[in-house]
Amino acid sequence: MKKITIAIDGFSSTGKSTLAKQLAKTLNYIYVDTGAMYRAVSYFALSNGLIKNDRLEEGQLISRLDDFVLHFELNKNTEQADMYMNNENIEKDIRTMAVSNWVSQVASISEVRKKLVLMQQQMGKTKGVVMDGRDIGTVVFPDAELKIFMTASAETRAKRRFQELTEKGHQVTYLEVFNNIKQRDQMDTSRADSPLIKAENARELDNSDLTLSEQFELVLGWVNQLNN
Ligand code: C5P
Repeated sequence: MKKITIAIDGFSSTGKSTLAKQLAKTLNYIYVDTGAMYRAVSYFALSNGLIKNDRLEEGQLISRLDDFVLHFELNKNTEQADMYMNNENIEKDIRTMAVSNWVSQVASISEVRKKLVLMQQQMGKTKGVVMDGRDIGTVVFPDAELKIFMTASAETRAKRRFQELTEKGHQVTYLEVFNNIKQRDQMDTSRADSPLIKAENARELDNSDLTLSEQFELVLGWVNQLNN
């Protein structure tokens, strides 16, 4: 089967990474979680004093974008790729509410996007890649053979995310998670640079009423269609 590029975009907590991981495993493709990269930059800002008095120092962050190197590395226990910054594993640090609360603002900075998009294009240039994010089908890989745009109601997404976070031991309330999702939707769709929009030729996947296996079978069918 010829290797293709699969671009998955959509709102926060629609299950993009779950689908992307299933596809990568079955097709033996590389999976790249681009949200983790934006989260890493937010974590850098938070841990280097670039967020003061509830304000992000954008100019300072821009001037320090060469101070960190990001890479993914396979975690043998979880069989997932962990995010590293300057050779330190920051996978747990980037999943906190503090990072979630700042990430959309960090991701609206064009200089940040430029740096990360170049890295993403590099990682996917040999095809056989599933990448998920907000601008993969529109900006990172506009020529991707399969583009998927995922949606689900905000309530469905908040419930799933709340369950995921509490299972991992994070102390959060449902309302906090719901508000964060609504706020990120708003910021991600309204920013000037690379806003979240459905690429013209993307297939829309609303999974509010689909089980994981129904969703997977549907998408696998799309992949197979492209190979026939
Ligand atoms: O995918 P995840 O929810 O972890 O992404 C965190 C945030 O990173 C998003 O809410 C969005 O602001 C930003 N992001 C982006 N472009 C991408 C991936 C993520 O702007 N390609």
